[in-house]
Amino acid sequence: MIIEEYVSLRNYNTFGIDVKAKFFCEIHSLVELRELLPELKKQPYIFIGGGSNVLFTKDFEGLVIVNKIIGKKIDFKGDDIIVSGLSGENWHEFVLWTLENKAFGLENLSLIPGSLGAAPMQNIGAYGSEIKQTCVSISALDLESGEIKIFMNEECEFGYRESVFKRSLKNKYFILEVSFALQNRDNWKPNANYGDIQKVLDDKKIVIARAIDISDAVIEIRRSKLPDPKILGNSGSFFKNPVISFVQFERFIECNPSAPYYIVSEDEYKIPAGWLIEMAGLKGKRYGNCGVHEKQALVLVNYGNASGKEIFELSTVIVETIFERFGILLEREVNVY
Ligand code: FAD
Ligand code: NAP
Repeated sequence: MIIEEYVSLRNYNTFGIDVKAKFFCEIHSLVELRELLPELKKQPYIFIGGGSNVLFTKDFEGLVIVNKIIGKKIDFKGDDIIVSGLSGENWHEFVLWTLENKAFGLENLSLIPGSLGAAPMQNIGAYGSEIKQTCVSISALDLESGEIKIFMNEECEFGYRESVFKRSLKNKYFILEVSFALQNRDNWKPNANYGDIQKVLDDKKIVIARAIDISDAVIEIRRSKLPDPKILGNSGSFFKNPVISFVQFERFIECNPSAPYYIVSEDEYKIPAGWLIEMAGLKGKRYGNCGVHEKQALVLVNYGNASGKEIFELSTVIVETIFERFGILLEREVNVY
């Protein structure tokens, strides 16, 4: 394994930010990762999968490790199908592979960029589905002791774009392998209630949707709404959708009667952050080399030469504007370094 010095990270983050890593390497196996463990005790480090949920605001004065550990397998256990993948697998290709193997349940999560290993970090979710619904267990390497620990689903503390790995165990474990319990044709049920999925199926005159039809619909909708990071640098939703208490919600809806909202639980109301940003007049606004995307206000974009600092400053303007206007504090979803 070669450790390089002063490597540009432009091609390793979907914002396309041109910062440098003081030290940089790729890992292809657990053996290589174990060899690196002494290095991790000497300096700051960061693991990168697809770099689609990070914003670099400065050069990284430590070791950047790009995960290329790949492999996947499928086991049939009664009515369940257990699929497992090593963390460097590409998420979307993994989803397509499950569908090809007639293992259903991940189709609503099609076309999310990034690696399999980063998926549990924020319990990736989209179109009414999140991995906490199908993830059975995660095997992770303890970076201090070098031992492998299995985290069962409940131990991952999955929440809305959250997990124990993004909170108390951040930087303490490397996620090595993720296993899912999926369904076969007999026990799978489509989830087409969210957004425009049903509309796309209706337009195509699909009456009985197969998992691949749902996947195709999700891909079509996503391609029509979201900027392709290869063309316009971005990291998907920059902020989480705020979840507010009933008391806060009552005040909010009285002042904003047309606001969309979703009831999460008796005392939790989710307000789409994109709507707040749009109502504050920021959708489509350009700030120097970066801006708020014209079709999706939750996505901040790099028009070419933005620095991470500029994008972070724009996100601060948005946080402050939304707080002044609505009294709601937006939280960044993207991992800022
Ligand atoms: P990276 O950006 O490489 O890493 C993210 C974080 O995880 C970093 O802190 C990193 O250090 C850590 N990490 C990465 N791999 C490991 C590992 N093996 N072990 C321990 N830590 C690790 N997200 C959603 O939830 N739903 C969506 O619908 C969605 N749509 C998106 C659309 C676009 C266009 C883009 C650009 C992003 C979108 N995202 C979405 C965000 C992003 O794709 C996901 O969060 C994805 O899981 C990130 O994977 P990654 O490999 O790129 O992570
Ligand atoms: P959308 O469908 O326009 O919906 C706007 C927001 O309202 C979403 O964020 C969603 O919250 C919420 N919502 C809509 N219908 C809902 C329902 N039936 N029940 C509960 N909440 C509902 O959103 P979009 O921007 O086009 O994105 C579509 C999906 O892809 C969303 O699930 C979104 O989270 C996901 N996505 C995520 C990222 C990312 O980087 N995290 C980027 C792009 C798209 P939820 O976000 O909780 O679903």
